[in-house]
Amino acid sequence: MDFKNLTWRCDACGDERPDEKISVLSVPLIIDGRELGQMNYKYCNDRPECLKQVEEKARGGG
Ligand SMILES: [Zn+2]
Repeated sequence: MDFKNLTWRCDACGDERPDEKISVLSVPLIIDGRELGQMNYKYCNDRPECLKQVEEKARGGG
């Protein structure tokens, strides 16, 4: 694996971004009142609009 070219796809805008431009929002995955794990939403940390979108996804449960 070539870590120099590591990129991630933003869950909000869908763009491939370099690792340093992507942050992860982790939210607990709760089904029937039980925490079954966590969901990780990737977003562009230089685009406030992307953070807003993943926060909305997180609230809506996906
Ligand atoms: Zn984005």
